[in-house]
Amino acid sequence: MPGAAPDTPAPMNGHESAIPVPRPFDFRKHGHAMVDWIADYLDRVEQFPVQSTVAPGWVRSQLPVHPPEHGEPWERIAADVDRVILPGITHWQSPNFFGYFPANASGPAVLGELLSAGLGVQGMLWSTSPACTELETHVMDWLAGMLGLPAHFQSGGPGGGVIQDTASSATLCALIAARERATGFAGTRDGLQAARGPHLVAYATADAHSSIEKDVRIAGLGAANLRTVPMRADRAMDPAALARMMDEDRAAGRVPFFCVAAVGTTGTHAVDPLPELGPACARHGAWLHVDAAHLGIAALCPEFRAIHAGLEHADSYCVNPHKWMLVNFDCDAFWVRDRAALVQALSVLPEYLRNSATESGKVIDYRDWQVPLGRRFRALKLWFVIRHEGTEGLRALVRRHVALAARLRARIAADPALELVHPTPWSLVCFRARAGDDATAIIQSGVNDGGRAFITHTRVDGRLVLRVSVGAPTVAERHVDALWDLIRGAR
Ligand code: PLP
Repeated sequence: MPGAAPDTPAPMNGHESAIPVPRPFDFRKHGHAMVDWIADYLDRVEQFPVQSTVAPGWVRSQLPVHPPEHGEPWERIAADVDRVILPGITHWQSPNFFGYFPANASGPAVLGELLSAGLGVQGMLWSTSPACTELETHVMDWLAGMLGLPAHFQSGGPGGGVIQDTASSATLCALIAARERATGFAGTRDGLQAARGPHLVAYATADAHSSIEKDVRIAGLGAANLRTVPMRADRAMDPAALARMMDEDRAAGRVPFFCVAAVGTTGTHAVDPLPELGPACARHGAWLHVDAAHLGIAALCPEFRAIHAGLEHADSYCVNPHKWMLVNFDCDAFWVRDRAALVQALSVLPEYLRNSATESGKVIDYRDWQVPLGRRFRALKLWFVIRHEGTEGLRALVRRHVALAARLRARIAADPALELVHPTPWSLVCFRARAGDDATAIIQSGVNDGGRAFITHTRVDGRLVLRVSVGAPTVAERHVDALWDLIRGAR
């Protein structure tokens, strides 16, 4: 094992082996201790200052300049987790963590992660571990059903789901498939610089996630060809503006090929109007990708399914169980209406990967649905969580977070010094001080500086806005009430 010194080899068949075998690592003993450590950590996570307070460079200053020449005792390594790592941790699982969007985790998910590492499977092809592929297809079908997604995303037809690392990667895959569909696969064949290539244009609002511009850049389309579609007063995409911009681009000889609609923008949870965006995209043959990275999980609850109205128009859709469904990072669920475009865009089959299962055409090789070749067995943690919680357990999680957000929203609404900003009925609360940005900034430092809670901010129309994102696994009324006391005390 890594870190262990070579030892005298065991005799084999009565002979001494000339090649030394590493001393075995007592995985059982140290593994049990590590699981105990994690369980204790999660039990006491609330006691830590939520945000790490170490200065830049502190963690590295605790580490030796050079790696050890000889393996160290495990106990010494494990002790450094407390000494060096823990002070540099921001405690995302703390019930006092209200920053960004959550990245909530759970025991079953962590065990799924551990099992995945223990099995050490690399699931690039069906044949490299059939269970890795088939479990993934199956739980993705389950999840599509749990979220009430349109039937065209189920794997039984031309579509299907795949687990990506992140929403950023899912959108990149959608973008590449869209680019290839729009160019008759010229992008992969000739390259975009081919003079005869069409001028492709993509669309999203200014509130769409930054990963979309990054993906457009990575795909070689140029950030200038990502058009910023104006928003309505509620910060959702203006469908009339989209239709007009697409028509203008078409009239000027450009090709509207890709539109990203958000179901729950990062800033304020705005939901772009899919029922109207769908037909606008369809008129130009543009691929409609729906980024529901965080809010999409709310659709587990039938009472919140309206967020997905119009999803039948979507060519692809992604949501992150690693944000709001107790599956530890990373786990993005990505579905496409027609996997052929994706697979044709991303499949390259060298001789060394050829195998009879692939050639039979009866199996899925998920390496063709993503950017990297290799892939982890992420379906295990998703499977464990879904089975342990059940759909009803996951709905209860969403409902608790939504109810806690409503509790805080009501207090802010009743306070004359504060105002809600674009309130939505889910788990994100956006607000600011009526007195202006300086007063708003004072509230943020008042909440964060003592380490008792953690919130983040954004800007809306140039003005500072505080975001309280309720989503920690164990958050309860008392944590939200304590947060409110901090806000009230700082305002
Ligand atoms: N899309 C939205 C709406 C998000 O809020 C986020 C992250 O918060 C992302 C995409 C990016 O997520 P990921 O880290 O999975 O790429």
